[in-house]
Amino acid sequence: MSIVTQMTTRCPVCGANAFSYTELLYDAPYFGKILISTGYCNACGYRYFDVDYAESGNPTRIVFKAEDGEDVSRSLVVRSKTGSVKSPELGFSLEPGPQAEPFITTVEGLLYKALDYAERLRVLQPESGRRIDEFVANVQRAIEAGGFTLILEDPLGKSLIIPRRPESVRIEPLDST
Ligand SMILES: [Zn+2]
Repeated sequence: MSIVTQMTTRCPVCGANAFSYTELLYDAPYFGKILISTGYCNACGYRYFDVDYAESGNPTRIVFKAEDGEDVSRSLVVRSKTGSVKSPELGFSLEPGPQAEPFITTVEGLLYKALDYAERLRVLQPESGRRIDEFVANVQRAIEAGGFTLILEDPLGKSLIIPRRPESVRIEPLDST
């Protein structure tokens, strides 16, 4: 992965000269060249994220195996508006809603997102407290030590995982089961 652009410029929302903007170019197996742009405004908190693909666009399933904590903290997840992420071992599934925003985060960041949802669920369904406790303990262990699979499915083929180790990822067409 190489950095193409990195600069601080005028924020498109508040106009302050505090918008950190980065473009990364990544040559991904199967996907080809991908341009990832991220931006963050230190003045108003506005976040920008976009991914541009030279190729691809076919329904894809990405299977990622995290073997240890390094795989978790140093692999990236790029989820488009149409991607869904699940982990059979950890027992969660994040489906894109109609308002889904694309995001890029580490696998660790994604698991923290899952923990956030679990804590929100705890408020809505106090009777599920014990199951949520178990889920939280499992996810926290997974963040430390890996040992789980993530499956990222995208009918438009615009989501991907940028792994720390290339061999931890398998990409297949979505129609095959
Ligand atoms: Zn701003």
